[in-house]
Amino acid sequence: MVALAQTSNDATGFIDKLVIHSPSTGDLLGEAPVMDADEVKAAVARARKAQAAWGALSVKERCSALRAFRHKVAQHADDLARAVSTENGKPVQEALTHDILPFCDLMAYFESRAPKILAPQTISLHLMMQRRSYLHCIPRGVIGIIGPWNFPFSIPVGDAVMALFAGNATVIKPSEVTPLIALKAKALWDEACKDEPRLHPDLMQIVTGRGLTGAAVCTSGVNQVMFTGSVPTGKKVAVACAEQLIPCVLELGGINPAIVTADADLERTAHAILWGAFANSGQVCASISRVYVARPLAEKLTARVVELAGGLVQGDPLDPDIELGAMTFLPQIAIGEAILADTIAQGGRVRCGGTPNGRFFPPTVLDNVEHGWKITQDESFSPLLAFIAVDDVETAIRYANDSDKGLMAYVFAGDEEQGARIAERLEAGTTMVNNAIDSHGAPGTPWQGMKQSGLGQVHSAQGLRDLCQVRHVQTRSWLPWMSKELWWYPYSPKVYGAFLKGVKALWGGGVLDRVLRAVGK
Ligand code: NDP
Repeated sequence: MVALAQTSNDATGFIDKLVIHSPSTGDLLGEAPVMDADEVKAAVARARKAQAAWGALSVKERCSALRAFRHKVAQHADDLARAVSTENGKPVQEALTHDILPFCDLMAYFESRAPKILAPQTISLHLMMQRRSYLHCIPRGVIGIIGPWNFPFSIPVGDAVMALFAGNATVIKPSEVTPLIALKAKALWDEACKDEPRLHPDLMQIVTGRGLTGAAVCTSGVNQVMFTGSVPTGKKVAVACAEQLIPCVLELGGINPAIVTADADLERTAHAILWGAFANSGQVCASISRVYVARPLAEKLTARVVELAGGLVQGDPLDPDIELGAMTFLPQIAIGEAILADTIAQGGRVRCGGTPNGRFFPPTVLDNVEHGWKITQDESFSPLLAFIAVDDVETAIRYANDSDKGLMAYVFAGDEEQGARIAERLEAGTTMVNNAIDSHGAPGTPWQGMKQSGLGQVHSAQGLRDLCQVRHVQTRSWLPWMSKELWWYPYSPKVYGAFLKGVKALWGGGVLDRVLRAVGK
């Protein structure tokens, strides 16, 4: 394994361009421009022009047109997986199964369901039952998408296709650490546009650069921002969007707990925690980082995870036998090392792993850890896993919820029903029972954070609708012969008295109130 020179994304690079090196070999991979605010605005203007025709198509037409892009991505799956692996440092199998495969499934899912999800919805009215109301989902316009480096394809490009299904155009700002894969996606998009005339190249714009380019997206005239990244940057994005009075969806960090009950299946739990902690070298917002395990099972589970971790193969991520690749972002290693050092200083015991070798951070398991230490509070975004033995489930729940973040949580229990009851008490956007980290791959389910982990959601029917402006249309359905409504002018004591009687009769607890409640009104 090699200790690698810093790449341009480590703040030592060029001002006017991004120079990207492979995290695992240090090889030069390519360059991308650093775009300024004017270039971002120009991209938004091009996207807006193309959106007019795209947004005018029916949802069904958009779904059938977008198929051409899915075909391109699936046909180039190997090439794309290798490109993700090379630029990001994750094992090629993870690049295929975490980035490319779920993206194709997401597209297929919404291709068949978006027409129904976005169809006008009738609202059943209450008192004003002489009216007819329905909701009509219309595109917002141009959606700005700011993405992270850990899922450099599936997150920004996945968000983009959801925005496209909803009839919007998109401007993607990839992380400065992984811009090349976004440019590759754009090249495939342009190819798809040649096969499918309803698609227009300008519907997907890529604006490369650093944080300032991301900030420029928020003030470029886009109609909504979808941001995935850290909590501090997410707050800056929220402020910028508030000043523009545009909505934003924020998918932010997590410090995700797992609760293990005494009757949990040892083998499944150990394998799930192993994968949940070390996939993508722990650089997953959903990574399992702190395990609250019932004391009688603690040593057995820790020992089994340590044993399994010892068998993981780390090295060249392009080798299909490799299970752990290189850390993508050099400063992240220092963050992980600092949390590791703090844990050891407090009395935590390293059961396996420890010091990184250059870009390669070994899977590191710690026990003898107490809740409240840094490792249980701060996102390390590295392959660090802490075991904390607890005496009862109530303590485990209290510790799990004792965090300012609430992205994911996990419960491992012998009885799935008991696991679900525990899950219902955890403050997390998603809690998985006897499973780990992959619910982002289920496009029908919402991906969302509680507390500091985010605002809004992606994926799911609601996530798709949130990419639309919802227009409410109200018509008269019956009593069309009435020349005016009862509460219009003129006002008079007689009308006032009639309404007063009505309020008392309908909602004052009398016979009519009871009848209405009995018939569900
Ligand atoms: P950052 O917050 O550092 O960056 C995210 C994106 O924001 C990058 O494209 C970055 O550009 C850009 N950016 C930086 N400054 C600004 C600004 N002022 N205005 C607008 N955009 C800006 O996050 P990371 O890329 O380091 O990603 C890791 C974080 O993302 C972790 O905390 C992780 O938990 C979280 N994450 C959350 C997920 C979720 O779904 N909840 C999923 C994946 C990751 P540049 O890179 O050029 O600086």
